[in-house]
Amino acid sequence: MTPPDPTAASRLCAACGMCCNGVLFHTVQMQPTDSPGSLSALGLKLKRKRGERFLLQPCPAFGESGCSIYDARPQRCRLFECRQLKRWSAGEVTEEGALGAIHSAREQVAEILALLERLGGTNPKHPLSKRWKAALAVPMDPSMPPSKRSDRDQLLRAIRSLNAVLDRDFRIVPVGDCEEVEPQVSPMNAAWKTPG
Ligand code: SF4
Ligand code: SF4
Repeated sequence: MTPPDPTAASRLCAACGMCCNGVLFHTVQMQPTDSPGSLSALGLKLKRKRGERFLLQPCPAFGESGCSIYDARPQRCRLFECRQLKRWSAGEVTEEGALGAIHSAREQVAEILALLERLGGTNPKHPLSKRWKAALAVPMDPSMPPSKRSDRDQLLRAIRSLNAVLDRDFRIVPVGDCEEVEPQVSPMNAAWKTPG
C-alpha cells in the first residue's frame, strides 16, 4: 500500500486494502532486506517454501486504519502498485473513477463473503480464493437443499465476475478464469506478491 498521507493515492488504498486482506494475494515474498524475525515479532505470519520466506495473507497487520506496521512493512509492500493505482498515476483514470472501481470490486467481495457465510465452513483467516475453493469442494449430495445449490451456483458466478474485474483492474498480470486460479506464482505477479 502507498503512504498513509492525505494524497489521492493514499485515499484510494484506504478505500481498498485488497492487496493486504487476502483478496488479491495469498502471500508476499520476503526480500533479503526484510527481517523475518522482526516481522514475526510484529505479528506477521511467515512460512518457508523451497528456501524462500513468505508473508501469509490476509495480513494480520491490516486493519481498519490500514497497515499497522507501516514503517516496518516488508519491501514488496513498499513497492507494490496495483493496476488501478498505476492507471491513476498515469492519468488514465480520475480519482473518482478509481474509487468507483474499488467500491465496485469490494461490493463483489462482500457478496462472495455473504455467500460463503451462508454455505458455512470456511476459515476467515484464509485468503479469499482458498475459502471459495473450500466451499465449492464440499460434495453435492441429493439431500442438499435447493437454497444451498442456488448459493453454490451464485458463488461460482460471483467468483468468475470478481476474478475478471481483479484481472482487468487490479492484478499486474491476469491469472485467468477461476478454475485456473491456483495459489501459484505467475511470472509477473511473482515479482510482487502471489495471486489470491
Ligand atoms: S490493491 Fe491497489 S488500490 Fe488497493 S490497497 Fe493495494 S495498491 Fe492500493
Ligand atoms: S505488512 Fe502492511 S502493507 Fe504489507 S500486506 Fe501487511 S498490512 Fe499490507
